Amino acid sequence: MTENLFFDMRIRNSIKINWLSVAASMLLVTVIGSVVLVFEFYTDDVYFKTRNFNYFLVFTLWFLFVLNYFVLEFLFNYYSKNQIRRITNILPEDIIHDYDSDLSFKELGEKMHEMNQKNAEIDMMKEMENYRKEYIGNISHELKTPLFSMQGYIETLRDGGVEDLSIRDKYLQRIDSSVERLLNIVKDLDMINRYESGQIDLKYSIFDINLLVQEIFDLLEMEGEKLAMTMQLQTTQPQLFVSADKQRISQVLINLISNSIKYANREEAQIIVSTREGTKSIHISVEDNGMGIKPENLPRIFERFFRVESSRSRKEGGSGLGLAIVKHILEAHQQSIAVESTYLSGTKFKFKLTKSTPSIKKINGISKGNSIPGKAQNL
Ligand code: ADP
Repeated sequence: MTENLFFDMRIRNSIKINWLSVAASMLLVTVIGSVVLVFEFYTDDVYFKTRNFNYFLVFTLWFLFVLNYFVLEFLFNYYSKNQIRRITNILPEDIIHDYDSDLSFKELGEKMHEMNQKNAEIDMMKEMENYRKEYIGNISHELKTPLFSMQGYIETLRDGGVEDLSIRDKYLQRIDSSVERLLNIVKDLDMINRYESGQIDLKYSIFDINLLVQEIFDLLEMEGEKLAMTMQLQTTQPQLFVSADKQRISQVLINLISNSIKYANREEAQIIVSTREGTKSIHISVEDNGMGIKPENLPRIFERFFRVESSRSRKEGGSGLGLAIVKHILEAHQQSIAVESTYLSGTKFKFKLTKSTPSIKKINGISKGNSIPGKAQNL
């Protein structure tokens, strides 16, 4: 039964009609037939006008058609097999096997596709390997700095520094800062990992973005005051409601605003957070008049561990992960972040959030206790 089927398939494969050869043979036969008919029309010889001649002509043309078809098929097969053999000779052995000596162009195409896929997989694995190495290198580099400084302080304390109260307090304070720095790095890394593996579920709610900006200004007020900087909210309406994960958006604003504080670099430093209503979204920007970022560094600032000025960032407690987290949070909200910066002049980060309208209950709640329309200007 299977043998019969196999035989049947082989016959069907071997009598597969090649329509290109049919068309070519047809063309040839049509040309020859037309020439003979024209000749027949103009000639005075009566033999060419007889029925016999016409039968002979039809038979000859039919014969020529069949012969031509098989010659063309033979030539096509011969040259294409040669070409296929030449190509298969240069393909790797794990793609072409010994029993693949009789491939068709279609099968060869499939093999090439398979090879491309394998190559793409290998490239991806290499890329992941490099990425893993770079990632681990960056993490250990980040962790080494606070660990080494802690080790140094502990050694000094052990070697008698503990007897001197001023040294002891100072060094314990520094150890405390290093521990805090370590914790911040680990927390940021954990957050990034959870974003990348899609483990973070957003808790959407409707809230007033202006109110949130004010709350974050209040939170960062101390830091800003140290540097005598002004923080300002500029808005088109006293209340602008968005639908987003409030806690995560606070993180975005904290990271952006504290960067503006960290990289202020001038007297009369100014941070302006602007909010405005669009058709479907609320547009938010955080702008400062700080040190700015050089154009060549701008495309890289959202990469993890990237720092324009590593010594300054480290001194300020930066892990080089703040903007990577911002980008992840906004991407999880199906949004993106844009940056414009002029070196030594200032930087502006812009993003959007989905606009929403609050429920009546919420409006009442906010207008009773939380609304701060008057405060929506200078801090
Ligand atoms: P870091 O912890 O170093 O601040 P971030 O991811 O938050 O890491 O920022 C990456 C780098 O981008 C910073 O090291 C800094 O050089 C640059 N940067 C970020 N925000 C600003 C800003 N507002 N002004 C100038 N440079 C900035």
